[in-house]
Amino acid sequence: MMLPDGYPDEALYSIIARWQIRTGVFDLRSTSELLFGRESRRPVLGIQTGIADLVEKGSMSADEIIYRHTLYPYYKGFRKWLRMNDILNAPHALWTDLERELRLASCPLCIVSDFENFGEPYWHRIHLLPGVMVCPQHNVMLITHCPMCGQSIADSKRAYQLTPTYCPAGHSLLNEIRNLNESLLTFAKDSQLVLFSGWNGIGAADLQQVYADVLTERVIPEFEAYPYKTQLRVQRSRFNIGSFLKNEFYFEIRNELISQFGQEFLDSLPLRPFQEGIVRYRNQRYEHKKHHYDWLYRISFRPIDVYSAPIAHIVLLGFLFGSVQNFFEMTAAKLELTGAASEVAATMEIESNEGDDYY
Ligand SMILES: [Zn+2]
Ligand SMILES: [Zn+2]
Repeated sequence: MMLPDGYPDEALYSIIARWQIRTGVFDLRSTSELLFGRESRRPVLGIQTGIADLVEKGSMSADEIIYRHTLYPYYKGFRKWLRMNDILNAPHALWTDLERELRLASCPLCIVSDFENFGEPYWHRIHLLPGVMVCPQHNVMLITHCPMCGQSIADSKRAYQLTPTYCPAGHSLLNEIRNLNESLLTFAKDSQLVLFSGWNGIGAADLQQVYADVLTERVIPEFEAYPYKTQLRVQRSRFNIGSFLKNEFYFEIRNELISQFGQEFLDSLPLRPFQEGIVRYRNQRYEHKKHHYDWLYRISFRPIDVYSAPIAHIVLLGFLFGSVQNFFEMTAAKLELTGAASEVAATMEIESNEGDDYY
C-alpha cells in the first residue's frame, strides 16, 4: 500500500496516520518496519529522518516531503547543523530538543474545510509550531485540549493518531473560539511566513547585527535622556555605550518586550524564562550576571550559535519591526546601515523563486 500524497501543509506524521487507516496496520513496530525498514521508530511531529526510505513508498520526492511536510524549512535557517542530507539518510529521528517544542493542535474551522475539500481532516504543520496558539487562516484559538473537560487531544507519543473531532468523553472539538489578541495572530502569521519561506535568508550572524544596530539606535537618545548622574557614572567607569546597552538598558528593552507581548504569552513559549533579580554589575564584574541567561540577552548579545531557536527570532523581530513581514519589507532600507542589505535582498529573491516550486 502506497504512502498517500500529502495535503497542503500536512505534517508527515499525519500522512503516516492516514497510511495506517488505509492499510489497517496500526502497531508502531509493523508501521516502522513497513515504512522505514526498521523496528520501532517513534512518531515524530517535527523533522522525521530517514525520508529516503519513504520516497520509495509513495509518489512524493524527497524535496517535496521535506519542504512541504516536515518542519525542516522552519528550523533550517537558524540551525547550521540541520542539513538536508542528514535528514534524508540519518537513521535516527531528530528527537531531542526540537520535538519537545511541538504538540498536536487543530483548528475547528480548518477541520470543517478539510472535510469539505478532502473528505477528511488532517494535522497542519503550522498548528504544531511552538508559540502558535491561533490559526493564521481563521484567527480562532487552536485546540490542544477539550474545551469542556480539559482532556488532551493527544493520546500517546507511541502511536500515530488522526485529527479528532470529539474528545474521548464525547465533547465536540469543532466549536471555535475567536481570538481577540492581535499579537497572537501576528505571531502565528509570522511563524507561517518563516515556515513557508524556508528562511534561508539573512544568515543568523547578520540577523544579530541587525538587532545590535536597531537596539543601539534606540539606546542613544534614551541614554542622553538619563539623569546626568547616571551618565556620569557610566562614563567614568570603563563601560561604554555597548556595555550600557547590555546591562542597565537591557532591562528597559526587556520590560518593553514583556508589555508588548504579555507575560502570559511569553511564559507559554519554549524559551528560557527571564531571570529574576537585580544586577549590580560593579560588584560582579567577573561573574556571569543572571540576565545573561535570558533568551533575549543571549539572542541579542551572545555568539549566535548559542541561540538558534527560530521562535526567539520571530518574537524579537516582531518586537523590533512590528512583524517578520514588516522586517522583510523594511529590510532593504534598514540594512544599508550594516551593509548586509544586498545579501538579504539576494536571498529573498532566491527564496521567492524557490518558493514557486513549493507553494
Ligand atoms: Zn484554521
Ligand atoms: Zn471533553
